[in-house]
Amino acid sequence: MEHFPLFYKEMLVFFNDCKKNKKQFYLNALLKEPLWCNKNFMYKNKPIFFHNWLRSGFKYLNDTVNENGIKPLEWFDDKLICKKNWMCEYMIIKTVITKTFKSYEFSNIRYENIFHGNTSYDLLCKGHVKVCDINSKLIYEILCHEKFIPPLHQAYYGKVFEITKTAWKSIYEQKILSIRDRSISEFNYKLLNNLLCNRELLKKWKIVENDFCVICRDAKENNEHLILKCKNVSHIWDIVKQILKFDISWKTIVIGFYYENNEKTLFLNSIISLIACKIYKYKMYCRLDNKDEKPQEICNHIKSKLNFYTEVYTKIQDKKYAKVMKAIKDKL
Ligand SMILES: [Zn+2]
Repeated sequence: MEHFPLFYKEMLVFFNDCKKNKKQFYLNALLKEPLWCNKNFMYKNKPIFFHNWLRSGFKYLNDTVNENGIKPLEWFDDKLICKKNWMCEYMIIKTVITKTFKSYEFSNIRYENIFHGNTSYDLLCKGHVKVCDINSKLIYEILCHEKFIPPLHQAYYGKVFEITKTAWKSIYEQKILSIRDRSISEFNYKLLNNLLCNRELLKKWKIVENDFCVICRDAKENNEHLILKCKNVSHIWDIVKQILKFDISWKTIVIGFYYENNEKTLFLNSIISLIACKIYKYKMYCRLDNKDEKPQEICNHIKSKLNFYTEVYTKIQDKKYAKVMKAIKDKL
């Protein structure tokens, strides 16, 4: 053990830490389990399912319990849409939950109210659900939870763009998880974490002597200049602004629209990220191949990509958005 590398020593320590907390995680996972049609909650050897309770918004174990077990009968009185057989059903749920509570120690758990209001009947849980086993995935989740440190550049953008800490989840969802094209998601991840290549970075690494843009010559080349401000690409953004009918700032490119999460914000984030990504990739391609970077060639590259995406959007029945893409392509 003495000659064991530090990395592996730390791994073993973290792993043991995670094992200690696994019970807590297991219980938290159980509270988020669907109550209905779930083999973890059986009555007389059958999973329970009461559709009036599901219609009234009770979906998960956590919706019906507090630290003492199932909530009292009166609590459900004004929350159930239809009270046919409700007392009998309450007694069955109580029996099932009491049995579950006896098997586990629930006293240290944080109870969150995940009551969802009325849900439609079609939200019926699909088939039998098995509570997550204690496996490597769970240990990994615990490790992330225990050791997660927010990316360093997040604090910088947070300050510059005045973003609250809670907004980051939505930004990552919209700029990475929801983007259909993986290469664009990857580009967004690099952009958010300052991992893109530019002359400012190359100068820092002592690969080039100065960080001025070789095209504009009078401006430093950081990510903002490279993708948005450089005179080789600014006309592309002028056209995008005209068609989308709003101004596109550096903030819009980096963090996108995150207040709302709908079809429109997804489209706007996708198209802006697509153009930013293709500008960056074409510029890098010119550098690697020692080619001269010509504005018309960047334009043609974007046009061919937009053509491809227009066809994709047409095929997936998003004709409204395909039309916007075509309009940008035609104007370039
Ligand atoms: Zn430039």
